[in-house]
Amino acid sequence: MSVVNAVFTPSYEEGTVYEAVAKHFEALKVERELTPGMRILLKPNLLYGKKPEAGVTTNPAILKAVIRWLTERGFTNIVVAESSGGLYNAEYMRGVYGASGLRVPGIQEYLNKDFTFKAVPTREGFQTRVFNLITPVTEAEYIINLPKLKTHAMTTVSCGVKNLFGTIPGLQKPDMHRRYPQTEDFVWMLCELCETVKPSLTLLDAVDSMEGNGPGGGTVRHTGLTLCARDVYALDVTAVRFMGLAPDAMPHLRAAREMGLLPERIDVTGDEVVPCSPAFRLPDAVKSTGFDDAVPKLLRKPTEFVMDRLLRSYPHVDRSKCVGCGKCAESCPQKIIQITDKKAGMPRKNCISCFCCQEMCPVHAISVKRGLRGL
Ligand code: SF4
Ligand code: SF4
Repeated sequence: MSVVNAVFTPSYEEGTVYEAVAKHFEALKVERELTPGMRILLKPNLLYGKKPEAGVTTNPAILKAVIRWLTERGFTNIVVAESSGGLYNAEYMRGVYGASGLRVPGIQEYLNKDFTFKAVPTREGFQTRVFNLITPVTEAEYIINLPKLKTHAMTTVSCGVKNLFGTIPGLQKPDMHRRYPQTEDFVWMLCELCETVKPSLTLLDAVDSMEGNGPGGGTVRHTGLTLCARDVYALDVTAVRFMGLAPDAMPHLRAAREMGLLPERIDVTGDEVVPCSPAFRLPDAVKSTGFDDAVPKLLRKPTEFVMDRLLRSYPHVDRSKCVGCGKCAESCPQKIIQITDKKAGMPRKNCISCFCCQEMCPVHAISVKRGLRGL
């Protein structure tokens, strides 16, 4: 059985968040697992530099509260590390830290300054034999995963498991998209990554969440909750139910079930988790064909394959909004985006519909269009 603790957290007010963190850590007896001098890593979601109110990144109040709780108890060997979308170097990350509100006392002293990475072999039988991970992750003795609750154009939701994609350095992330262009393979890789990183604890920021065209261009929805668990899969299942969605409809949770990673029972302690009503709006790119129920189980895979060819979604640039920054081209694993006359052009040919471009566009100029593959 896995335990997920829930705490009603109505705002990002410092005292409120600290109290919530203290309740979680007490309920899960976190202090017993820590030893003086232990290397503790905090892994927020910093998709890109975006002010906290935008609902894109883990709110600084969460980081501040966790750091305060740890340091008050003498656990001071802390590093806050993340590889956001885009580059992974001191200059780029300084900008991301600043824009995300992390360069403030109580957090800035702990921001990672080591931008190297190491190759980490995985467990026998995994499809990915080696992951390149940012060095602080490879050196940590206790990893606290701090995701933000969001919808996601490719994986439907971004929560505990997806947050760990930010342990892969910079522009090696588009490489992973190129290696695993199909969602089913990509989420399988995410589960393997999760099993390699092995977070000790996951604390979810769902005080303000994101619905619609997440993870970067959706709408902020106040949901007033934090969840905490040792078992990241149990936390994701609970969070998805909270969103009013079905865990079995989430590609990464289906993969986790197939890999035998989902717990048989989840015990939710603390405050009651009432599913949101209405349910979270999904990204435009997440199609719901309604075929799942209508088609016999045996025919679902081939039907999905055909429907994918017919109804596949593609990015579409609104040229009036595009500022020609090139962030989409930089993050495109297929290298098919051209910037001409300060406007991005996206051909459908060779597009794998990963939506990294949409994720990284700072002005939300990229929307999703359905269309026949390759046309
Ligand atoms: S154009 Fe966008 S969706 Fe298509 S492969 Fe490139 S990043 Fe992915
Ligand atoms: S589409 Fe967005 S990310 Fe791409 S160049 Fe235009 S503004 Fe920049």
